[in-house]
Amino acid sequence: MKTIALDLGGTRIKIGVIEGSAIVASSMIDAFSSNGLRARLPSIQDAIYELLRSYRIPLNDIVGIGISVPGIVDPRQKTVLSVNQKYFDSIGFDFTAWAREKFDLPIYLENDARSALVGEWRFGAGIGCDNIVMVTLGTGVGGAAIIEGKLLHGKHYQAGCLGGHFTINFVGQLCNCGNIGCVETEASSWSLPQKAMNDSEFQMSMLSKTGSIDYEKLFAAAKKNDVLSGKLVHNSLLAWGSCVVNLIHAYDPELVIVGGGIMRSADVILPFLRKYVDSLAWTPWGKVKIAVARDTDNAALLGIADLLRENLNL
Ligand SMILES: [Zn+2]
Repeated sequence: MKTIALDLGGTRIKIGVIEGSAIVASSMIDAFSSNGLRARLPSIQDAIYELLRSYRIPLNDIVGIGISVPGIVDPRQKTVLSVNQKYFDSIGFDFTAWAREKFDLPIYLENDARSALVGEWRFGAGIGCDNIVMVTLGTGVGGAAIIEGKLLHGKHYQAGCLGGHFTINFVGQLCNCGNIGCVETEASSWSLPQKAMNDSEFQMSMLSKTGSIDYEKLFAAAKKNDVLSGKLVHNSLLAWGSCVVNLIHAYDPELVIVGGGIMRSADVILPFLRKYVDSLAWTPWGKVKIAVARDTDNAALLGIADLLRENLNL
């Protein structure tokens, strides 16, 4: 039994044909997410049909479409309730009608960090554990929680997924969510360039010569003893450490899984987080395990496919 899974990222849209824990076909298109979703739907539709054609997979073999969305999602109504800049016009869009009209297939929607957590829970770093918190470090900072074997949603579908908007600096900058001093304003890919450029040491830093600034370049420059980069790495680690401790205090997990593109620098981030959490989190029962996502690139695809199958009782 095969499903189509879409992962709507900020810069790229991933498309996969999933069978169990296997991605049997996949492709990727640019997202242009700041232009909205509706204008991109014809290209998404074309890319799905093209993928099926090139792998000779008949549409009849597909049982449904799962979509992982960077925003607050109501999976019962299959609608997007709120987004943060990306895909602004996905709010209220009738995904069910779109999937029926274009593919004659049922659909399922879930938040992207929740999808990634389910992917890791079923097939990755979270196998066998029923109390898990996920943090994704990337353009933004995503979160999700599974407590006693249940994916946490809450009354308004935002429980567990706003870890990136925990206040960690009450005299911090305004976040694009409306709060101040969020984890995201302190340390995420969207806030990093401004943080670097506003620093008085910027002109002396290697970062002033790299063109666009991202975490890969930041970690590389810090390894070459660039002073500003070292400071920004240290601040970012403290921000993520605070975020993880807050998540542990909020959701009582046994395991924290950390994923997202920034975890390409897991060699620096993981040891720091383990030490930080061991010394600062209040967990009298023992130590919370911290693991890197096993398949950060595909966890959301696998997870949304699993949630779709569950929703279809398959
Ligand atoms: Zn925020």
